[in-house]
Amino acid sequence: MKRLAASGWDIFAVNEPNRTVTAAKAVDNLQKMAQKVETVQDKGDTMGEAIKKITLDMKKAQLSQDLEKYKEKAIEWGASRSIIVKAEEIPVDERITLKCQIPRCFGYGASAHCPPHTLAPEKLREILKKYHRAVFFIKDVPPDVIVRNKATIKERIKAYQNIFKIVSEVESMAFYDGHYLAFGFAAGSCRHTFCAQEDTCQAMEGKRCKFSILSRPSMEAVGIDVYKMVASAGWDIYPIGSNAKPEKVPKGTLAGIIIVQ
Ligand code: SF4
Repeated sequence: MKRLAASGWDIFAVNEPNRTVTAAKAVDNLQKMAQKVETVQDKGDTMGEAIKKITLDMKKAQLSQDLEKYKEKAIEWGASRSIIVKAEEIPVDERITLKCQIPRCFGYGASAHCPPHTLAPEKLREILKKYHRAVFFIKDVPPDVIVRNKATIKERIKAYQNIFKIVSEVESMAFYDGHYLAFGFAAGSCRHTFCAQEDTCQAMEGKRCKFSILSRPSMEAVGIDVYKMVASAGWDIYPIGSNAKPEKVPKGTLAGIIIVQ
């Protein structure tokens, strides 16, 4: 793409894998109910404007304006707060993925987007050196939904799905705005958010991921210290373990990030 743009020829951000996810079904593994997830993109929101030509200077000139737009879109699509951050200030720490193993998370090794199969913190740190700005957001979740409680599993899955959806949509919007190297991370394991009723992760068996556009690693799966990022933004966040009681939890927090450029 760069070579073509540099030559002065027109090029548009259309050379993208199929992003026409029509719906994604998330399954409540207790009530066995399928839940339809429509992406905002399906409704045409991310493609509401004409596709912009990729130019060498557009990304710099437009970046601030676009970042503000993505920040607002994240809120519009379900986030509680959003902020623009410098890529160099995203805290990546091997101890975060260590916590996926000790004590062992039920998602560890269970999907292509969870450790040890996904991007290692060391690799992410290297990649982030090539980026400048990101949009980080959180979503407040009621205490009785965020704690592990069979009675609220549907609402919990829905909240996690919303994070995946916001990340996917903002990433897509950035792509079509010409920030074609944008990418993002969500919250929690896609194995439990989208494929809870499947026996295995199909992507790990060499088959197509059933939710290839929506699913992605969580921030924590690649070593991003979400607690630190939320606290650095001046927002409240609380440690919520598997035996937390809703009445003791002020609020739950889920987070996502889109590394734009
Ligand atoms: S097939 Fe399911 S579990 Fe595997 S990567 Fe895709 S969404 Fe995740």
